[in-house]
Parts: sequence; C-alpha cells; structure tokens
Amino acid sequence: MPESTRRRELGRGERVVPGIWRLRLPLPWPGVPHCNAWAVAAGDGVVLLDCGLHEPGSRAHLERALGQVNLKLEHVRLLVCTHAHADHYGQAADVVDASGCELWMHPNHAHMRAALDDPHAALARRFEVARQSGVPIEPLRAWSASARDRGYGIAHLVEPDRELVGGVTIDTDLGRWTVHETPGHAPSHVCLHQPERRLLVSGDHLLGRVSLYFDYGWTPDPVGEFLASLDTVDALDARLCLAGHGRTFTDVRAHIDANRTLVAERLERVRRAVAEHGPITAYDIVPLVHGEQLSQVTAGWWLAETLCYLRHLEVTGEARRDGGDPERWVVA
Ligand SMILES: [Zn+2]
Ligand SMILES: [Zn+2]
Repeated sequence: MPESTRRRELGRGERVVPGIWRLRLPLPWPGVPHCNAWAVAAGDGVVLLDCGLHEPGSRAHLERALGQVNLKLEHVRLLVCTHAHADHYGQAADVVDASGCELWMHPNHAHMRAALDDPHAALARRFEVARQSGVPIEPLRAWSASARDRGYGIAHLVEPDRELVGGVTIDTDLGRWTVHETPGHAPSHVCLHQPERRLLVSGDHLLGRVSLYFDYGWTPDPVGEFLASLDTVDALDARLCLAGHGRTFTDVRAHIDANRTLVAERLERVRRAVAEHGPITAYDIVPLVHGEQLSQVTAGWWLAETLCYLRHLEVTGEARRDGGDPERWVVA
C-alpha cells in the first residue's frame, strides 16, 4: 500500500489555533474518509468535542491523534457530542471509561437509541420504509444483509449526564461556548458558539463541502428544521468554523448560503418530479434529484433525503401521498 494511502488511515492531531486541536479520525465509510473531534484547552485538561466512530482499533486512532499534540484520554475533563451519529458519539463509552468525564449531549437521541436497543427492529423498520418507498425487493435484501454485518459503530449506550439544550454553556480557556440547537441533519444536533472569538463548532450541520443528510422519521419536518437551523447559525455571524468533517473554513456565511441554495434546488427537482411524473414513488424520484439511481452505497442516504423533501412539500401543502403499496406522491 502506498505511504500516502496508509498514512490517511491513521488518527492524526494538529493545532488549529492556540488552545484548540483538531483530531482527525479515520472512518470505514466510502466517500467519507475521516471525521473530526476537537480538543479545547480547559484548565489542566481539555474539553473533547465529539469522539469518532467505534470499531476495532478506533480507540488507538483517537489515542494516537491525542498523542501527536501531547494529550491523553485521561486529560479529557468533559465530552460534548454535537449529535448522536456514530462518527461523533461512537466512542463516548470508551472516552468516559478512560477519563471518568461527564458526557453532555442533546436529549433527542432516540434515533441512535432505537438502533442500539433493538438492532433487528431498527433494521426491519428501515427495510419497510424503503420497501414502501418503492425500492425493489432483491437489492433491498442485499443491502439489508450487508447492513446487518456492518454494525452501528457505537461502543455501547452512555446516557448524557447533562442535556445539551439551547443556552447551556461550556467553559474553556478560550472562553465560554454557548449551545444552539440545530436539528435537521439529526434530531439531536447542536452547534457550539464562542462569541468573543467568533468560533463555531458546527458538527455536521455545516461542512466545508456542502453535503446534505437528514434523519428521516424522527421529527415532523427535517428539511424545514434544517433551514431554520441555518438561520440560527447565520445570526451568530461566526468567523471560523470547526466542522465535523474536513478542514476549518472562514467564509461561514457563504457556506450557509450554499446549503440554502442546494436545498432549494433539490426541493424544486422533487416538486417538478411530482408535478410531471406523479403519481410517483420516492424511489423513482431519487434519480430525478441526484441524476443517478440508488446504489448500495447511496441507498441509506439519498432515499432518506428524498423522503425528507417529500415530507417538507407535504408540510407546506404542495404534495400529498396518493396511497398505494408502494406509496406514490402527487401534487396536493
Ligand atoms: Zn452526522
Ligand atoms: Zn458526521
């Protein structure tokens, strides 16, 4: 294996500004090679923001990344998770066990709990949503079998010691950070803001490269919630964004606008698909939005995204379910 490829697969740590370190942790997911955890100086230790996916060897990657900036898991005084997805929360149990720290996270994490409490039921539910949306049975069975083997990337459930709701503050050497609830990408999503330094820890709400993902089925209107969360973050007027994946970036407002534009474009494509091809299934709308059919790689992502657009158009009174099995959509 070439050196460059091998090096990418290791956890790495680097200082981004004095008192903040980026811990870049490898992921086993196609198209998403890393996630970030952030360590922020706090007294004789650090506050750790997110902690990476749990899988064999993952703790060594986190320890290696910390070690590169002269930190250890024992230095973690508090673990804060931006949301309960596996790549941000997966190693929470390891971090809490090793450091004895508290975990703070938003209480709306049923989307994660369901998969841990009863993996078979959670998978069966996703299978049924996909079937109802028109995904053909054979590829769906193959996807379901591979999903069963993949696991969820979470060591085990740790309940938050404190509920990370709007207005909660986190004290660090760089000042006090304020929690802002930003549901949409996930029901449990929050961003952290440091007003004097105009820093934003954005989790997966804002990424350097615009990439939309919405958890389907846990809240009334994930797309509407995401758009409202973009307004929430826009009002903060942050200067430097520390995102859940990729490098830091400064043009925060341009990134917010790029997200709004992409959501508007895709909503318009769904609107047109329903108007021109309805009654139509969510599965048949996917290629009209993304330009290609669902694959095993994109299945879990694009279908949920498309269902969330349809749900948004249902909430705004523009589309409705026309019944049937699989379910079809028409103009309201
Ligand atoms: Zn996420
Ligand atoms: Zn993520």
